[in-house]
Amino acid sequence: MQRRKFIKNSLSGLPILLTAPTILASACQQNEVIPTDKTVIVVGAGISGLAAAQKLHAKGFKVLVLESQDKVGGRLRTNRNLGIAFDEGASWIHGIDGNPITALAEQAGMTAAFADDESIKSYDIGGILRSPTIYSTAEDEFYTILNSLNKKGNASQSFETIFNNLYPAKAKDRLWKFLLSTYLTFDTGDLDKLSSQLYDEGEVYGGIEKISTNGYDTIAQYLAKELTIQFNQRVTKVDYSANKVKVTHNGTISEADYILITVPLGVLKANTIQFSPALPSIKQNAIQKIGMSCVNKFLLTWNTAFWDDVQYISYTPEIKDKFNYFVNLKKVITTTNALMTFAYADYARKTETMTDNQVIDEIMSHLKDMYGNKIPNPTNMLRTKWQSNENSFGAYSYTAVGTEMQHFDDLATEIGDKVFFAGEHTEIDYFSTAHGAYLSGIREADKIIDLQ
Ligand SMILES: Cc1cc2nc3c(=O)[nH]c(=O)nc-3n(C[C@H](O)[C@H](O)[C@H](O)COP(=O)(O)OP(=O)(O)OC[C@H]3O[C@@H](n4cnc5c(N)ncnc54)[C@H](O)[C@@H]3O)c2cc1C
Repeated sequence: MQRRKFIKNSLSGLPILLTAPTILASACQQNEVIPTDKTVIVVGAGISGLAAAQKLHAKGFKVLVLESQDKVGGRLRTNRNLGIAFDEGASWIHGIDGNPITALAEQAGMTAAFADDESIKSYDIGGILRSPTIYSTAEDEFYTILNSLNKKGNASQSFETIFNNLYPAKAKDRLWKFLLSTYLTFDTGDLDKLSSQLYDEGEVYGGIEKISTNGYDTIAQYLAKELTIQFNQRVTKVDYSANKVKVTHNGTISEADYILITVPLGVLKANTIQFSPALPSIKQNAIQKIGMSCVNKFLLTWNTAFWDDVQYISYTPEIKDKFNYFVNLKKVITTTNALMTFAYADYARKTETMTDNQVIDEIMSHLKDMYGNKIPNPTNMLRTKWQSNENSFGAYSYTAVGTEMQHFDDLATEIGDKVFFAGEHTEIDYFSTAHGAYLSGIREADKIIDLQ
């Protein structure tokens, strides 16, 4: 996703926090060790779980991480099958100033390049290149509208309802469909479910946007270095009725003094983990009310590049959320001839029912419209299916109709100083991001440390 557009938005509205990077690298600092024989089970080896586990381990806790997949990272997932790092989940560091990922990336050896927002060409159907003035005027108007809209709806109305009522012509306009899709749906979720009052919640960091060039999972591998992690262990039951917490995974029961649950909101929604006793109703309500979006990413490679030498290429089809945005990876990894494109919301879910050939045909129809029928088919394609992925059931959390900001804090609230919760969906200020997930892990580790 690309929260950079919200940064532009926020310059005129929301506060920009320049959080001191010092707290942020703390997961990897060897702090004073607390003499403790206390044990912690961390469920999930995504960035939130790893950050917490690393900090607790450094403090002297006996930490066991249980991960359902065969590798660390969760939604920091990098596919290197085509010889370049294709980040299937997070790609961008959203604003480098004060962002904990900036320091962490440096420590971990994750390389990242400046992604230049201004380097963009926009095509209409028929391969017609839009004038940069028309594009940037619409973009400015889009942000003006976005800054004013949240006072216009009521709590039961979706963003789409309000927008379509107020701007019926824009709702049908191809450029506006693109702006709504790439600058809003991408960062949040389905517009017909997105809250008309809370669509621009969350804080942003200032500074430029960077895109990872050697893979975001570098950070996960760095955090995991000294940890005890059991892979291919799917947690199915958490019994916290006795003094020690009992965790069932693959038919085995492990016990600990504390448990930190970092599975994605989609997994909590799917109810694949049985809690005994059941989770408090306040938490169950929050799980139900906060939305889980879907974004799918597609990497296509060619032997030679035939496209514009710009960072971003936008295309504005009639169908919303459909392969309308291309990141030219050649601009950041010069040795590669690759484009990354996206599908969002319902169209993203639809792609998961399509074959590779069907997906390639659809993407190629957009590229052919822009660059002519003679362009070659890609040599390879990689793709994601985040909705049907049983380790996340979606991409990230968003403020759906019915969500209240308090719900994020409800998800973060511990139960009886024994059961703790982290993950991007528990971070009220930075939900849906890698940095939010990281901060949530540090937050929960600190809570457990403070109990000693
Ligand atoms: C397509 C996409 C694009 C994104 N783009 C960006 C971006 O550019 N910039 C950015 O800042 N953020 C981005 N994000 C968001 C960011 O990737 C996430 O917010 C962050 O990685 C979430 O970390 P987490 O630790 O909360 O969860 P996860 O990384 O999902 O970790 C949870 C872990 O729990 C494991 N698990 C699940 N169920 C079980 C179980 N029952 N038992 C044991 N383990 C289990 C999972 O396998 C996973 O490893 C993107 C996400 C997606 C999907």
